[in-house]
Amino acid sequence: MVRDYKYDVIVCGGGTSGVSAAIAAARGGAKTLLIERLGALGGQMNVFGPPGFSYAYLYNEAGERVIDGFIGETHERLLKENHARPTDMNAYRSGSDYIFSFVDPEWWGLLIYEMMTENNVNLLLHSLVVDVIKDGSGIHGVVVENAAGRQYFEAKVVIECTGEGDIAVRAGCEYELLPREENEPHTVCFTLDGINWDETLAYIKAHPDQILPRGDMDRTPEERYELIRNVKDIAELGDMLGFFDIMNEAIKNGDWHPYAGMGFFIGPKPDGNHLQAHCQHSAQVPNLWSCDPWDLTYGEVENRRQIKIAVNAFRKYMPGFQNAYLTKMGIEMRLRDGRRIMGDYVLGWDDVAEGRRHFDCIGKSTFSAGAVHVADNRTIAASAKGTVKPPNKGTYDLPYRMLVPRKIENLLIAGKHVSAERCAYQRFLQETMVSGQAAGAAAALCVKHGVTPRQLEAENYIKELQDVLRSQRVILDGVR
Ligand SMILES: Cc1cc2nc3c(=O)[nH]c(=O)nc-3n(C[C@H](O)[C@H](O)[C@H](O)COP(=O)(O)OP(=O)(O)OC[C@H]3O[C@@H](n4cnc5c(N)ncnc54)[C@H](O)[C@@H]3O)c2cc1C
Repeated sequence: MVRDYKYDVIVCGGGTSGVSAAIAAARGGAKTLLIERLGALGGQMNVFGPPGFSYAYLYNEAGERVIDGFIGETHERLLKENHARPTDMNAYRSGSDYIFSFVDPEWWGLLIYEMMTENNVNLLLHSLVVDVIKDGSGIHGVVVENAAGRQYFEAKVVIECTGEGDIAVRAGCEYELLPREENEPHTVCFTLDGINWDETLAYIKAHPDQILPRGDMDRTPEERYELIRNVKDIAELGDMLGFFDIMNEAIKNGDWHPYAGMGFFIGPKPDGNHLQAHCQHSAQVPNLWSCDPWDLTYGEVENRRQIKIAVNAFRKYMPGFQNAYLTKMGIEMRLRDGRRIMGDYVLGWDDVAEGRRHFDCIGKSTFSAGAVHVADNRTIAASAKGTVKPPNKGTYDLPYRMLVPRKIENLLIAGKHVSAERCAYQRFLQETMVSGQAAGAAAALCVKHGVTPRQLEAENYIKELQDVLRSQRVILDGVR
């Protein structure tokens, strides 16, 4: 590590958006520093997670690949090392965009450190960014608190990847935040091992109506059940949420709590050909505000109370889980909902519903608008307006302008809190890597041309940004 205080680009936060932003900025020739409050990189992907699904929605419902770039590169590298599985286009999930390209989150975390070194990203860990250095509306660096006290770092462009937008708010950015009680519940994720998967699969095959439907939604229930009965490896099912009869029995006996549903996601360890269960719907705490530390403290305590109930219930009621044990837990509760920083474009319902194209497209998404987590036994529900998918089994464009915060200069936003209406929240892992990679590439171009991120919105620069992204395998065109 170089002990330096002046950079072209500083990235605040080392989750999925931050690491992809830092690598893209460094690849663009910028002298780059990534600052992370923890000693660990990866965020929800491997530190607070594991998440239920990590590499999903990379294909649209028509089967076209729509997200590649950083996510494709890392999947390929992990596949070569046997720490990932090929994208699973099995019959059960086919016809849907909810298809998994499993990676082992622990090995993903190790790969990320390797990529930091390969790309000459300077790291400053164990360091909390507490403020920005600002002159009028322009940001010129950040203020950091760590074991050495207070430190100042200069940068031509700062990329805010904290997930919560804390730094952007201190810089004076406009944001939206729902009232406390309308926020999605927050969760401490955990992983169970020691499962007899043959027993679990036998139960599911005998009761295929007990898990939430996946795959092509035009199928009749009986067509879906038949596909489930034909599954050979439980990993083909990918996620299994529901288990309504089991959960209701546990509720009747006072063995399940009212805040979450039952179920889990498959977490493969490809090199050991071993499966674990990732649970991220089994503890959920509502009415917490991302900007209120008292709320967050209560959430940490309450999540752990719920996890104890959930693990005991899994062991008592879920077929195959009688000897299951807790093998990993997120180190802290992570937040599904929080501030969204308002930018020059606000991605919204209509973008998704119309499958809108933008001149400044920096990536694609197939993700529907309108689904929300709820803190009850259903776990997931539609918003008051319902849900909508892009038309024609296709995609919508993510415009560069959603990364550029209004009014403030020399700042880019990437990750969960990019500029979007709540219904079109770009918070899923693949989306945070798309916005991270684009913000990093854009920041490097700003440095190269001596322009601000807002000036980069001009068409000639956008074309150059898109060429850079295409050269890094980002998909911007050629798909529905
Ligand atoms: C419980 C839960 C389950 C989820 N499940 C899934 C799922 O199954 N699939 C999916 O695709 N998505 C899932 N998501 C969404 C997705 O995981 C997150 O939205 C995504 O990981 C956010 O990435 P990010 O880079 O924006 O932020 P994060 O991954 O949260 O990273 C932010 C980083 O910034 C650091 N940081 C914060 N503040 C500072 C500061 N002031 N100074 C320095 N560093 C700072 C943090 O320590 C962290 O490392 C889930 C989210 C939650 C909360």
